[in-house]
Amino acid sequence: MDITLQQVSYAYARNTPFEKRALYNVDLYIPSGSYQAIIGHTGSGKSTILQHLNALLKPSDGSIQIGDVEVKADKKNSHLRKVRQKVGIVFQFPEHQLFEETVLKDIMFGPMNFGVPKEEARLRAIELVKLLGLPEEVMEKSPFDLSGGQMRRVAIAGVLAMNPEVLVLDEPTAGLDPRGRKEIMDLFYQLHKEKGLTTVLVTHSMEDAARYADRIAIMHNGKCVLEGAPQAIFENEGRLKEYRLELPQSVKFQKKIEQLIGMKLPTICLTEESLAAELAQLINKEREV
Ligand code: ADP
Repeated sequence: MDITLQQVSYAYARNTPFEKRALYNVDLYIPSGSYQAIIGHTGSGKSTILQHLNALLKPSDGSIQIGDVEVKADKKNSHLRKVRQKVGIVFQFPEHQLFEETVLKDIMFGPMNFGVPKEEARLRAIELVKLLGLPEEVMEKSPFDLSGGQMRRVAIAGVLAMNPEVLVLDEPTAGLDPRGRKEIMDLFYQLHKEKGLTTVLVTHSMEDAARYADRIAIMHNGKCVLEGAPQAIFENEGRLKEYRLELPQSVKFQKKIEQLIGMKLPTICLTEESLAAELAQLINKEREV
């Protein structure tokens, strides 16, 4: 599902003494099936954009097209329910929103609320518990008796149970240990590929943006100041510094190696694995000479 933000501006508490402008004329096109990362410092407007993606917020000015629904300040929308069903948001610390007596009921809640028959919702929940690597016994347990990592997975299953076409992830691994982080990020990537989802990831992690995304947008003081493929974004260290953003570890390491050996590698390496492969190729070439 294509999403297009056109000159989107947003102010909180508009027309009150507390008015706070959060977005200024943001243009962003997220094509169906792409993996879009949004990065930027705290307060740059990432969460505000994210809440526009399923019309939780409406632009103060400009418009946002979500599939075939256009959302505009002055337009009455009767289709927002459809949008909310198709765009699933995994908010930060989504486990804080768990509330049902059992894991099963919690995962079934969303789909049933949107009219999915009980049996189908139950089947979806069973499948998702498996997919997320949770033991089957958790089904009848209270979500509050689970570990933090398991609660996070149950909450994610609740969003996936809606069968969204667009998955919006707001720092989905915040607070997890490194292994849990990688497992969850890999799972989102697998779902992205297998189900042909459009994925939008808001993250502080340059590594995650570099590894998973095919487009990156940089937000700074409420404006989208740079947008492009990860290679192009991370080639431009000067621009990143302007926005107080770092390079991913693999690119930092690549730059150090290039300094030491006095030559440039042919491409920017967005992951440790691709850096290792480039270096191995270089060493093998040297050996042949
Ligand atoms: P980020 O997600 O990048 O940290 P936000 O979108 O949360 O940025 O915030 C953008 C700006 O809007 C910030 O200046 C922030 O203080 C302000 N802001 C965010 N939420 C609210 C709110 N509910 N009321 C007033 N101002 C807000």
